[in-house]
Amino acid sequence: MVTELRIARRVQKLNPSSTLAITAKAKKLKSEGRDIVNLAAGEPDFDTPDFIKDAAIEAIKSGFTKYTSTTGILELKKIIAEKFRKDNSLNYDPSQIVVSCGAKHSIFNTLLVLVDRGDEVLIPSPYWVSYPEMVNLCEGKTHFIKTQPENNFKITVKDLERHINSKTKLIILNTPSNPVGCVYTENELREIARICVARNILVISDEVYEKLIYDDSKHVSIACIGKDIYNLTITVNGVSKSYSMTGWRIGYLAGPLHIVEAVSKLQDHSTSNPTSISQKAAQRALEAGSEFSKLMRNEFQKRRDYVLDRLSKMKKIGFVKPQGAFYIFCDISQFGMDSFSFVNRLLEEASVSTIPGLGFGRDDYVRISFATSLEELEKGMSRLEEWMNKI
Ligand code: PMP
Repeated sequence: MVTELRIARRVQKLNPSSTLAITAKAKKLKSEGRDIVNLAAGEPDFDTPDFIKDAAIEAIKSGFTKYTSTTGILELKKIIAEKFRKDNSLNYDPSQIVVSCGAKHSIFNTLLVLVDRGDEVLIPSPYWVSYPEMVNLCEGKTHFIKTQPENNFKITVKDLERHINSKTKLIILNTPSNPVGCVYTENELREIARICVARNILVISDEVYEKLIYDDSKHVSIACIGKDIYNLTITVNGVSKSYSMTGWRIGYLAGPLHIVEAVSKLQDHSTSNPTSISQKAAQRALEAGSEFSKLMRNEFQKRRDYVLDRLSKMKKIGFVKPQGAFYIFCDISQFGMDSFSFVNRLLEEASVSTIPGLGFGRDDYVRISFATSLEELEKGMSRLEEWMNKI
């Protein structure tokens, strides 16, 4: 009790991770010998390719194991600038780029330098679980824009206009999105950009799932729409999802110089540079990893199509076909259970682990991940179907 009182209010207010309890339970059951099908993964199941690992090994062997400049080594920032030019039609000078310990860190840094107490941050809902908690840590106010499956869970211009007020400072956009997999088109982004420019709203554009995109969908960065929106946008990306490097902790942001300089100052006095060894690995990934990303994307597309085909035969479950990332957000409202009860029972009774939708803003949904082998997906879908027919 005494210890609890000593915890700062900003952290006391944080919600515990909604996924932690259920993933811990799945792990425990597995360690007790239960054959659990894991449909809860938040990371690609591929190993980091050897050519990327080799760059890290070379870095260690050659003694590249000391502090680097806070914002990352110039060679890495140059290749990131090149990536932005090639993939996203975005011109950023290396001085406009900060490399951090994962895209999560890039987003948190950005919020810390932009959000003052009471500033409102617009978050389209469903959302990635960490956005609201990060805003809370910055003493900002979350303002959710609820989206509907009928509109592929995307915000409309009308929604946006209705939710902006005098306190609105910024919006967090996530395309392709976790958990719904929606991908905003160029026209949709143009409309959003028009409103943001007219109302002077900053944008954090979280594009970490850029390389995992399906059918004929195309990823567009909102900052490339025009000069005005470019000057209001902080573009965030990373190597975690694109090159299966979640554990290496490298993400990056790019944006207007005065914001980037503020992030750099913040990072100077908090984490300093991201790991030197991981920076070398990320540089190699960005230089030579495009074939690997494509291979992974193709495999994910096959898995997505398989799971969608199976789910479409389960009449009680609803879903919107994801166009990106590796999740399917499933409507479970017909079961008359909240998302925790559903996930808990599915785990206990059918040995399939998924993630409750509550943490993403919808207690009538659960998130299924297809970042696992086709064999496991087949087993998982059969178990889910059988269990649903029983209850
Ligand atoms: N944004 C979204 C939408 C994510 O799903 C994740 C990872 N789950 C991240 C950012 C963070 O990625 P990382 O910190 O590993 O780069």
